Amino acid sequence: MVSNERSEKKAERKAERKAERAEKKRAEGNSGYDDSTSYPHMTLWYRFILGFGKVFILPFLYRKFHIETEKMPGKIKDPSLIVFSHGCNFDQFAVIKGVPPYKRYIASDALVRDKKMRLAFSLINNFIFRRKGEKGDNVVKSAVVTIQKGIHVAMAPEGGETLNGVTNLPRPRTGEMVKQMNCGLVTFQIIGNYFTKPPWGLTRAKNGKMYGRVVGIYSREEVQKMSEEEINALIYKDLYINQYDWQREHMINYDRENRAEFVEYVLYVCPKCGEIGHLHSKGDTLRCDCGYTVDVDEYGFFQGEDRVFDNVYDWDVWQRDRIVERMEEWKKEPDKPFYTDGPGEFKYLVDNSPVTLASNATLEMAPNYMRVYADGYEKVFPYDEIRSVSVAHRHDVVIIHENTYYQFFTAIPSSPQKYKTAMYLLRGRDRMSF
Ligand SMILES: [Zn+2]
Repeated sequence: MVSNERSEKKAERKAERKAERAEKKRAEGNSGYDDSTSYPHMTLWYRFILGFGKVFILPFLYRKFHIETEKMPGKIKDPSLIVFSHGCNFDQFAVIKGVPPYKRYIASDALVRDKKMRLAFSLINNFIFRRKGEKGDNVVKSAVVTIQKGIHVAMAPEGGETLNGVTNLPRPRTGEMVKQMNCGLVTFQIIGNYFTKPPWGLTRAKNGKMYGRVVGIYSREEVQKMSEEEINALIYKDLYINQYDWQREHMINYDRENRAEFVEYVLYVCPKCGEIGHLHSKGDTLRCDCGYTVDVDEYGFFQGEDRVFDNVYDWDVWQRDRIVERMEEWKKEPDKPFYTDGPGEFKYLVDNSPVTLASNATLEMAPNYMRVYADGYEKVFPYDEIRSVSVAHRHDVVIIHENTYYQFFTAIPSSPQKYKTAMYLLRGRDRMSF
């Protein structure tokens, strides 16, 4: 009886603590993974995994992904934020090889929605999880605590992989975060990752090469003298690379299966007819409904008689300029949708697990609102109430509305990036990255 009572009390306390944590999350405006109470540890287990991995696993992975890195140009003196340019799923291996000391990674929480993945991740590293579109106060808190314990933190400051082969601006809050962390800085550039497995594609170039190098090691003293803007500018300068320009010089064969699939996650304006969302890929070919056709060659460039741009980046810059122009027209009719996609699955997150709200749904965006509707279902997001629009898993449109995380996925590939870009324009951002 006594033990029963005791276990009941224990369960009660557990429920109370859970409620407290949920309340804390709400108060902090974090719909997502709250890591602010998770402290860094480097247990014997990690040491074992690191030691074991170094001998038995990592050399195999370096060979498999053809990862070459330069020797670090010096020692890292202070606990530091290690920032790396992000272009594919295998970048972490390049970071481990190029910057060997132990570090905690900041990773997207979208990676651990799946139970198996969660287990795998917890075995590899004591990750700090970040939810896209959120302010990330919890991430900063965890990073500060980690640095205070003398442990490095690593992250991709662009907020995701480059979709067009050129480094993006770091998230605006990166400089502020480095200041709060009171740490040093290491910049690590990775090239060839984008061609090995483009973030929009599904296949990998089996013989593709990835190169990593430390560009700069900056002491705590050096970094903390700089302003937030100067830190952001330094990160951008060190990590910046136009991988197409680089490839033009080196012409390395990055042959993959179905080289053009699914580049329409990135490219959505046809250079011939100007229509949006009429581009479709199959195999090595990208084709518009108007007949416009290009192929992707083994080096990653577009080929064919119709070719206007030979690479994704130039095409992406051009299409963004077209959208900037057209947005002026669209704004004149603020209740008329300018983008429509569907049919798709519309979900939202409950305790970090996706729950379907509507299948066969349509997503539309107008200057005044975004809306998802299906048979017997409608959800309107007034423009002022949308906290952010972003992209996850390369194909999902993510809408953060108040403190809820929604995602929309269409079976027919179409660009979720165009919603994010349109939102940037509607909000009048001048320093806009892709
Ligand atoms: Zn066309």
